[in-house]
Amino acid sequence: MTSNCHTHSTWCDGADSPEELIQTAIKAGLTDLGFSSHSPAPFDPECPGIRSEAAYQRAIFALKEKYRGKITISCGIEQDYFSPPPAAGYDYVIGSVHYLKKDGHLFSVDESPEQLQQALTDYYAGDSLALVRDYYEAVLDNVQKNQPKIVGHFDLLLKFNEQNPWIAETSKSYLTIAQAALAEVSRMIKQYGGIIEVNTGAMSRGWRRSPYPADPLLSFLHEHRTPIILTSDAHQKKDLTAYFAETQALLKNIGFSKIYQLQQGEFSETPL
Ligand SMILES: [Zn+2]
Ligand SMILES: [Zn+2]
Repeated sequence: MTSNCHTHSTWCDGADSPEELIQTAIKAGLTDLGFSSHSPAPFDPECPGIRSEAAYQRAIFALKEKYRGKITISCGIEQDYFSPPPAAGYDYVIGSVHYLKKDGHLFSVDESPEQLQQALTDYYAGDSLALVRDYYEAVLDNVQKNQPKIVGHFDLLLKFNEQNPWIAETSKSYLTIAQAALAEVSRMIKQYGGIIEVNTGAMSRGWRRSPYPADPLLSFLHEHRTPIILTSDAHQKKDLTAYFAETQALLKNIGFSKIYQLQQGEFSETPL
């Protein structure tokens, strides 16, 4: 892989500065690096997102000029479903659902296993399939209303499920809901030129052994010829290309032969 378009820095909850990440990308031989800070989320004190979108854009566009000829820098945003609409001027938007709202209560699906379990108990009386249905409904609504270029970590709700299981993720009852949502997302993104990311973020953080989306859904994407892109969702420079080689092998094994990448700032289809 020669690019990554899902990268967090000190502009949000990442550990390293954009410039440190650029240096790492150059050393790793990437031709393109796209930044995707979290959109402003004032409702979440744990992860409030970018404070000033204008300052963020200025900083990244300055780096784009500085490193012209060495690496192509793009300025994107990871737009949460509950954030106010993004400012103009981004190169691309990743559309993600990190929170759900149930009976007026907003909760995060990816902050901690405890928080997710608490929400399941308090707001759903333990009905995990009801939470699953609400999550995918939000993902569908997000894609339909906002048409993000990249659909972020499609099944993020499984982040903690390997280590703190709360849903049988290979059961027919779960997969029926997830695949119906994926079929609809796949149909919608083909109409407007969107791409689904295959995201290794939960692997580098030690939560899962496979990327988002999980294997059965990846096979579904292959069968439906849905455009995909490989991303690391890195929050520190050492994870910038984490698990890319393993995931490339997995995708080839499933039968994929093409993948999107950022090339000179454009999302282009390339051989896998
Ligand atoms: Zn995210
Ligand atoms: Zn992210």
